[in-house]
Amino acid sequence: MHIKLNDKEQFILKKISNASETLNVKAFVIGGFVRDKIIGRATKDADIVCLGDGIELANEVAKLFSPKPNVSFFKNFGTAQIKIDEFEIEFVGARRESYDFNSRKPVVESGSLEDDQNRRDFTINALAISLNKNDYGTLIDPFNGINDIEKKIIQTPLPPLQTFSDDPLRMMRAIRFAAQLNFVIAEETFEAIIKDAERIKIVSQERITDELNKIMLSSKPSIGWDLLSKSGLLKIIFPQMMALHGAEYVDGKGHKDNFYHTLEVLDNICEQSNDLWLRWAALLHDIAKPITKKFEEGHGWTFHGHEVVGARMVPKIFAKLKLPLNEKMKYVQKLVGLHLRPISVTKENITDSAIRRLLFDAGNDIDDLMTLCKSDITSKNKLKVKRYLQNFELVQQRLEQVEENDKIRNWQPPITGEIIMETFGLTPSKNVGIIKDAIREAILDGIIPNSYDAAHDFMLHKAAELNLYPV
Ligand code: ATP
Ligand code: MG
Repeated sequence: MHIKLNDKEQFILKKISNASETLNVKAFVIGGFVRDKIIGRATKDADIVCLGDGIELANEVAKLFSPKPNVSFFKNFGTAQIKIDEFEIEFVGARRESYDFNSRKPVVESGSLEDDQNRRDFTINALAISLNKNDYGTLIDPFNGINDIEKKIIQTPLPPLQTFSDDPLRMMRAIRFAAQLNFVIAEETFEAIIKDAERIKIVSQERITDELNKIMLSSKPSIGWDLLSKSGLLKIIFPQMMALHGAEYVDGKGHKDNFYHTLEVLDNICEQSNDLWLRWAALLHDIAKPITKKFEEGHGWTFHGHEVVGARMVPKIFAKLKLPLNEKMKYVQKLVGLHLRPISVTKENITDSAIRRLLFDAGNDIDDLMTLCKSDITSKNKLKVKRYLQNFELVQQRLEQVEENDKIRNWQPPITGEIIMETFGLTPSKNVGIIKDAIREAILDGIIPNSYDAAHDFMLHKAAELNLYPV
């Protein structure tokens, strides 16, 4: 086994070793840092566990650096943190935890390193490396986590039902690590998740959603969502997503399974973008298909309006999942609502005004919308895929042309409400809005160019229709 530390990490760990020697407490680096070093993943933080007071050790370590880093600590939890450059180090005393079945609040006592490793969630997260002078650098791996890393297996160190019962969030973490690391969950561990799934209800939504976002940011989130579904967790934490499952048949006509279609779209988009919110838009783009689904005689399955209904579902889903109810939510809502527009534009002759309206409605999110639409092509028919991509290429070109000519993407009305009020001596009123909207529509329809002079002239004519004349 080979652990490669960079100079900075070696330097920091040595200092921690020196500080623990001074205090005469034993210290170990443990958990995610050790795991990621063995796998060869990037690390940005490290957890230090000591057989003593974590806050005291953090203070002693801080003294050895200049400038001396700030020590932030939580007295109640006995944890402390220091930051060296961008590297975060957390200190805690080794502990033993026992849980009451109905509460997530453990009874915590100080314990041995072994106690501390026992309360860890997975064998791959229970590895420790000694920072003590006599055996510095020795790996302490009581559950053979090394073997599980090699075999790419996630399993609990203790009987899984016990580990999950102590903190049901660990069920989500198992699935998150499977997605992030592309590991498999050991059968017995997964069986326990299935058995214990209901217990996720006692975990706070914030912790659950943290895990969902980590799944979303992994390189192939479908792994995580599929496991959530198969474990029974998904139907509890996100039933609308579960409802996408299944392909129904009437008169021999079926539709595609929207759950797996959605996951394909999501994985596709992850190859194009790391943006969490674009990824959420992909996950939610067809969320209203189950509730808009109809079988029309002679026609087959339809999902009319699923993009509009889906956009309306976004705020509710965000609120339930405690995702932010800010412009990120609006962005997701907008992409869900517009996800069929580039396709519908390709269906007719592509008119400039259809392109202008698409640019106007999508604004600066037009590129993300096109990325979503291209990711939405999941047909197995290569010819179809080629044709669809060519169509989008055409739309893309037209978008660029029209944007160059008309500058609609960041459209600001050439004539403002203030100008209209001044020109006709109006106070804020309905007519101001009517004139403003008419100018916008005329520009989008290509009746007039997107310029001040043309819009001004158009304004005078429109106002005359309303019996308004310049003052
Ligand atoms: P990442 O930082 O990438 O999320 P990580 O494994 O470092 O992964 P953290 O949440 O930072 O995860 O936790 C650090 C370590 O603490 C873990 O490796 C694990 O040993 C332990 N741990 C964290 N959360 C739990 C939990 N809910 N139950 C048991 N052990 C946990
Ligand atoms: Mg960590």
